Amino acid sequence: KSKMANSRYEYVKSFEVEDEVFMPNLIVVRIDGRDFQRWYLIRFSQVHEFEKPNDERALNLMNSCAVAMLEEYPDIVFSYGYSDEYSFVFKKTTKFYQRRASKILSLTASFFTSMYVTKWKEFFPQEKLRYAPSFHSRVISCASIEVLQTYLAWRQNDCHTNNQYSTCLWMLIKSGKTEKEAEEILKGTQKQDKNELLFQQFGINYKNLPELFRRGSCVFKTEVEDIVKYHEDGTPVKRLRRKPRIVHSENIAGRNFWSEHPCLLK
Ligand code: ATP
Ligand code: ATP
Ligand code: MG
Ligand code: MG
Ligand code: MG
Ligand code: MG
Repeated sequence: KSKMANSRYEYVKSFEVEDEVFMPNLIVVRIDGRDFQRWYLIRFSQVHEFEKPNDERALNLMNSCAVAMLEEYPDIVFSYGYSDEYSFVFKKTTKFYQRRASKILSLTASFFTSMYVTKWKEFFPQEKLRYAPSFHSRVISCASIEVLQTYLAWRQNDCHTNNQYSTCLWMLIKSGKTEKEAEEILKGTQKQDKNELLFQQFGINYKNLPELFRRGSCVFKTEVEDIVKYHEDGTPVKRLRRKPRIVHSENIAGRNFWSEHPCLLK
């Protein structure tokens, strides 16, 4: 770095793309698995035999990587994910990498990816990782808390819509329809129709499906009492620690959620 200063090479530095996310905007990063499903390429979820529509192992692996992210980067105050995606919200006043989008993007995506690979065996003990997965990512610069909440509401709504659709689709396929036929049946159906279909044809009450599938997962730090050591007489020495916790909340954009967790936005 110092060798560069005042050298004849230095002017090249001015060609680096400037991409600071200015205060007081909130930095959100969303990462998403590349080609986990798209039909015309190798599908990561197919190659690794994900259960359809929801592979619990894969979701738990994603959640575990998100926990690792919050442990690694203290400036991440909140995250939300489902399927092959996760959004990370940085604290308002973060100075992380001078708030440079490209640095933050590349770091979060590469750390998440290497965690995903490192933890693979823990969640898929029977399934060999057949090729190197990758995640793409983007920065969303939220101008206010309201924008952030709308953003989160959008992702959670997407989780719900996709999950309801794919639950119907895969129930139809598992009952003998081809993928095309199943898609044809679902074309133009509303939310209510899909709930009806699940109930009438398969006896499934959508509301009773696991929260992990329907609501997605939040990870944020809460205070927990930890025993750090024991006194000689055996009494424990406790300390409050902030630890990442996984929660499946009904409405992460709602006022209730944010007033219950005010520390998130400090
Ligand atoms: P940043 O996170 O900003 O990139 P950094 O600590 O990685 O900070 P760099 O300027 O990227 O700093 O420097 C990387 C340093 O890592 C080198 O200066 C060197 O000391 C060490 N390093 C990298 N590769 C090797 C290597 N193959 N053998 C020995 N040392 C290495
Ligand atoms: P892109 O590279 O643009 O992200 P993609 O093929 O990954 O394309 P997405 O829109 O990200 O497409 O969709 C990811 C798809 O991966 C889901 O729709 C689903 O089919 C599959 N998938 C992801 N996670 C799981 C899971 N836990 N269980 C089952 N299927 C999953
Ligand atoms: Mg270097
Ligand atoms: Mg994807
Ligand atoms: Mg996705
Ligand atoms: Mg370096």
